[in-house]
Amino acid sequence: MTENAVPGQHDGAPLAPGLYIVATPIGNLGDMTIRAADVLSRCDAVACEDTRVTGKLLHHIGAKKRLVRYDDHASEETRDFLLGLMAQSAVALVSDAGTPLISDPGYRLVRAAREAGLPITSLPGPSAAVVALTLSGLPTDRFLFAGFFPAKDKARADVLAELGAVAATLVFYETGPRLVSALGAIAAICPEREVSVARELTKKFEECRTGTAATLADHYTAHPPKGEIVLMIGPPVAAAAQDIDIDAALRAEMAQRKPSQAAAHVAKTHGLDRKALYARAMELKSP
Ligand code: SAM
Repeated sequence: MTENAVPGQHDGAPLAPGLYIVATPIGNLGDMTIRAADVLSRCDAVACEDTRVTGKLLHHIGAKKRLVRYDDHASEETRDFLLGLMAQSAVALVSDAGTPLISDPGYRLVRAAREAGLPITSLPGPSAAVVALTLSGLPTDRFLFAGFFPAKDKARADVLAELGAVAATLVFYETGPRLVSALGAIAAICPEREVSVARELTKKFEECRTGTAATLADHYTAHPPKGEIVLMIGPPVAAAAQDIDIDAALRAEMAQRKPSQAAAHVAKTHGLDRKALYARAMELKSP
């Protein structure tokens, strides 16, 4: 395939039929890519979450398009209608901000389009998770994006138990009103981990703060955060680097609970491997 045959490549020709996934700015309109503006200007229709939000974006680039409201809860008929449209013409998919499908609608539409054998292309552009990660100073070699941090205590504890031992930076979306309680939950379960809060990315009041969950909770209690937020938790620190006496921690826990529970508790607290701790707990228990 030659380069010009790639759908969305601007060679002066009308856009080929198919689905074009178009990432849009997360705050700063200057982050609209040239290719995104080109595809949005030349497509035949735009599937979007909110026609007013997308109407404004199109107005900004001087385009006026047929808008079709779409989210993943849309009816089969709406999806079939869009599939029919993209078989004949170029349909762009956008969300209100950032990359569609990333905590935003589009997954079902893309799956259905693939199943129907329709051409699909994805235009890279802003996504808050990646912008935050690159800004945070936390390790970027391995990261795990896990969508919105849960709102309820039990679900927060569950997600930290599930992902806490993964050797990667954890990236979550969060909202201002929930940030302090989210940090409180992290402080209770993994107090030693480096945490980063990135707020209002690409906008006038952009900020990124890194510290322990407890220090960040203190800061945001004193300065209630406004705007959109990405919450990141650095990878578990090796026990030696944390200066933890593992045997002492296990013995203290085993004085109150079974070895398996003691191992699980120490693993969760320090972000360590539960199986290895259980094996050590059994060694400590045997005479
Ligand atoms: N699809 C989008 C993306 O690729 O970034 C994310 C959509 S999700 C519905 C919205 C969440 O993304 C917000 O609640 C916030 O957590 C995060 N977010 C979006 N824009 C942001 C920004 N400018 N600064 C910080 N976080 C942002």
